[in-house]
Parts: sequence; C-alpha cells; structure tokens
Amino acid sequence: MILVLEDWCKGCEICVKRCPLNALELSDKLNKRGVYPPKLKAENECNSCKLCELICPDFAVTVTLDEEKKSKEPKSRLIIGGIVNEV
Ligand code: SF4
Ligand code: SF4
Repeated sequence: MILVLEDWCKGCEICVKRCPLNALELSDKLNKRGVYPPKLKAENECNSCKLCELICPDFAVTVTLDEEKKSKEPKSRLIIGGIVNEV
C-alpha cells in the first residue's frame, strides 16, 4: 500500500515512470500545487518495493506493508555456518 501526501507532490512523475510494475498513474484531482499527484492503479499491482518512496524528491510517498504481509515476514534472520534461522 502506498500513502501519498498529495499536497507535497510537485507532479514530476518520476515515481510513475520508474515504478517497475507500472502500478502508478496520475490522479484526476489537482492538488494545492496545481498538479496531479500519483495514485495506485490497483492495490495488488504494487509489490511494496519502496522505489517510489526512495526516489520521490519531495518525500511525498510512503510505502507501508499491509498487516498480512508483515505477519508472514520473519522478524530477523540469523545466519550461522550457512544455515538460515528465522527468529
Ligand atoms: S516523485 Fe514525488 S513529487 Fe514526483 S510525482 Fe511522484 S509523488 Fe509527486
Ligand atoms: S512500491 Fe514499488 S511497485 Fe509499489 S508503487 Fe512504488 S515503485 Fe511501484
């Protein structure tokens, strides 16, 4: 899931053009800066890679993992002698 601080967006479209899954599109609603901020086309098209969050020059995007995905992820990984233990 992505959260967009819509009024922080300056409409550069970097996030839309660089998303590896082409999961973003421009909203049809102008923000306070007079541009169209991005939005997800559909929730399941995003894999939460966080690229859009990292490359947004205005820090307008935050990517959050949904609760289901979070609970399936190991809290940490301990690698001892080539054996991976999920802790
Ligand atoms: S990269 Fe940031 S500023 Fe540029 S369109 Fe996306 S959200 Fe807006
Ligand atoms: S988190 Fe990755 S896949 Fe999802 S919208 Fe951003 S760049 Fe695209």
